[in-house]
Amino acid sequence: MNAAGAAAMLAQTPTDNDWRALQRDCITDVAELWRALDMDPALLDGAKAASRLFPLRMPRRILKQITAGDAHDPVLRQYLPLDAENHSHPGYVTDPVGDLPSRNSPGLLHKYQGRALLITTGACAVHCRYCFRRHYDYAEDLRGGHVQALEAIRRDSGIREVILSGGDPLSLDDDKLAALVQRIASIAHIDTLRIHSRLPVVIPQRITPAFTALLGDTRLKVVFVMHSNHPAELDAEFEEAVCLLKPFTDAMLNQSVLLRGVNDQVEVLADLSHRLFESGILPYYLHQLDPVAGAAHFAVIDAAAKALHRDLAARLPGYLLPRLVREIPGASAKTPLHWTAKTGAAP
Ligand SMILES: *Cc1c(COP(=O)(O)O)cnc(C)c1O
Ligand code: SF4
Repeated sequence: MNAAGAAAMLAQTPTDNDWRALQRDCITDVAELWRALDMDPALLDGAKAASRLFPLRMPRRILKQITAGDAHDPVLRQYLPLDAENHSHPGYVTDPVGDLPSRNSPGLLHKYQGRALLITTGACAVHCRYCFRRHYDYAEDLRGGHVQALEAIRRDSGIREVILSGGDPLSLDDDKLAALVQRIASIAHIDTLRIHSRLPVVIPQRITPAFTALLGDTRLKVVFVMHSNHPAELDAEFEEAVCLLKPFTDAMLNQSVLLRGVNDQVEVLADLSHRLFESGILPYYLHQLDPVAGAAHFAVIDAAAKALHRDLAARLPGYLLPRLVREIPGASAKTPLHWTAKTGAAP
């Protein structure tokens, strides 16, 4: 399809605020994505094969953020199935962060002191090609609706903070989320609820009044961690959603994954930090890619990641510098990647 055709498709994008409709209105067919963005036909077969391993899933509204015909577009790249995914690489595995051994009851990952992560749902509004849970089998975790996970939290008074993750916890309906949050709040030793979600970035319409009301109703402190990797993802609809959300949170943070060809440039990361701050969000983590099978083409080697982070530190106030970390299976926390500052550099 040519640019005019792509524009005509955009004009048909639903304009209502029904986030469920926007979530259903997803591109899942590789050939359709190729037509909508006028992509190089030579990449199509590899993409089809890759999407059989991990299906394509991109809400149609995201087309607006992408330059047609550009396989290197930093937003598209995050959802674009590529032939590179079909080849195995040594060290790139299906459970790169050791989730399975730390699953102490179904649906609960308790790796770090004081905080436990609840696998809220297996569903996601998008499929990010670099996702470290792209091979995770959620079925066993979600059988029985969190009963065992909540019991395990109740029994362990060392846990203060419950993290809703997934999948994407905001894929659940507001009434299901409200019920879950009430059950968590009924555990006296829990004081903080943390929500890790990419939905405010990919379908900002998800931030509904019913959702903010459930945050407003809980006695728990609320920490909201979004997930954006590139400033082009932060459009006007995102800004509106974050305005609605902010009064109901105690902290709004963002985590990114360092991705080759997406955000491995100091200008992009600096811009991302500034844009987040304009919306009242502080950068939290910049993750080194977890070595998940199918994502090796996104890897940035450690030396380059450290140099990038050092250059970013030189350009940003400390509070806008995300922590560069990696997840090492069995470690007691996310592990920082250290570098040594350059001396004598004039501003
Ligand atoms: C990353 C992670 C957390 C959160 O760690 P913080 O450093 O507190 O952000 C908690 N539990 C699990 C299992 C995690 O993977
Ligand atoms: S939103 Fe998060 S959990 Fe879902 S596919 Fe993307 S990276 Fe994975």
